[in-house]
Amino acid sequence: MDYFEYKDDELYCEDVPVSKIVRKTKTPVYIYSYRTLERHYRVFNDAFKEIPHTVCYSCKANSNIAILKVMGRFGGGADIVSQGELYRALKAKIPPNKIVFSGVGKTKDEIKAAIAAKILMINIESEAELHMIADIGSTMKVTVPVSIRVNPQIDPKTHPYITTGLKKNKFGIVWEDALKLYREIKGMEYLSPIGISSHIGSQILELSPFIEAVRSLKKMAESLSEMGINVKYLDLGGGLGITYNDELPPHPDEYAKVIGKELKNTGLHIILEPGRVLVGNSGILVTRLLYVKTSPGKVFYIVDGAMNDLIRPSLYGAYHQIIPVQKKNGKDGFVKVDVVGPVCESGDFFAKDREMPVVKAGALLAIKGSGAYGFSMSSNYNSRRRVPEVLVRGKEFFVIKKRETFKDLIKGESIPYFLEAD
Ligand SMILES: *Cc1c(COP(=O)(O)O)cnc(C)c1O
Repeated sequence: MDYFEYKDDELYCEDVPVSKIVRKTKTPVYIYSYRTLERHYRVFNDAFKEIPHTVCYSCKANSNIAILKVMGRFGGGADIVSQGELYRALKAKIPPNKIVFSGVGKTKDEIKAAIAAKILMINIESEAELHMIADIGSTMKVTVPVSIRVNPQIDPKTHPYITTGLKKNKFGIVWEDALKLYREIKGMEYLSPIGISSHIGSQILELSPFIEAVRSLKKMAESLSEMGINVKYLDLGGGLGITYNDELPPHPDEYAKVIGKELKNTGLHIILEPGRVLVGNSGILVTRLLYVKTSPGKVFYIVDGAMNDLIRPSLYGAYHQIIPVQKKNGKDGFVKVDVVGPVCESGDFFAKDREMPVVKAGALLAIKGSGAYGFSMSSNYNSRRRVPEVLVRGKEFFVIKKRETFKDLIKGESIPYFLEAD
């Protein structure tokens, strides 16, 4: 359920015609719906109301500070994976005691910054990192709250690039090693083991991998308890999938129900790190059709958006619905097309062999489900300026990030003196 709907054949985001926003911002542009964000957050959070929990929004899905502020406003914390995300989360006034830090390659500076900010916990992903954190804690004379990210070796049955809980993945620590490290932490002055973490993958469409993961973590908590370590938090990560096309992901209520059942009477506080499920269907990327190009056996819709703006189709072969902003009632019929961008790569496409309404050059197209891993994965490839982002609330809309200027493109670059002379 989202708030992108047609009224009189015109696509609206809440109460604002998409074309009205485009008149101001031009294309391409990301448009997010506040009401959809609110609805998704509330549905997700309310699902867990019977269980002590904290929702730590996974910032990397969409890290615009206005979006983080929205999450914070509803009571959300943040799951961060870099110092940059820590900076953003703090700027958005997310309470530090609701911030968790994941990632396999945290640098010394990043760890120091996280400790200084007094975040809830750091999720350790290797033995070497454990020792690094302990050393820093000792230098700073701070006992650092930590959890170990265990790799429960569960197949989430999703795209290989977004699977993270298998043995061959770089994430987390396998069961036996994790136990060994907890034992080690127990004797350390500057580390306090307060939780166990995991994150098994993304765009997961079945409940069984989550059930397996939570059982595995629960078992770990029991083993730790026998060792005299009583953790308070179980961090279940994110990963709940969404509908891009015809997927039928579990409803957050079903997800919460199975987790609640596993954790009944354990007294554990759970941490959830949803990303995609909160923001994915809260955003669209609007692009303009530049040219219709026909070559033997093929029709191309060449649009002004490209893989640098939204890389999911190129990177994962991901499917996104593409709909016209002005619906012509299918009056002009349909045509099978490839929707492609201007970037000089054959991988630069949004759709392949897709039945699309016949539209003319100049038409606006909305690429749905672009709120997660859209702008946050965008780049300046081909020296394309990053596009603006707009947040709609009711009848109002706000540019929450301006389109980059050409000057922004070369910001920080300089020419050495020996080249200046030429
Ligand atoms: C990416 C990530 C998430 C969020 O994943 P979604 O599929 O967007 O919910 C949560 N936790 C960690 C550690 C992550 O890396």
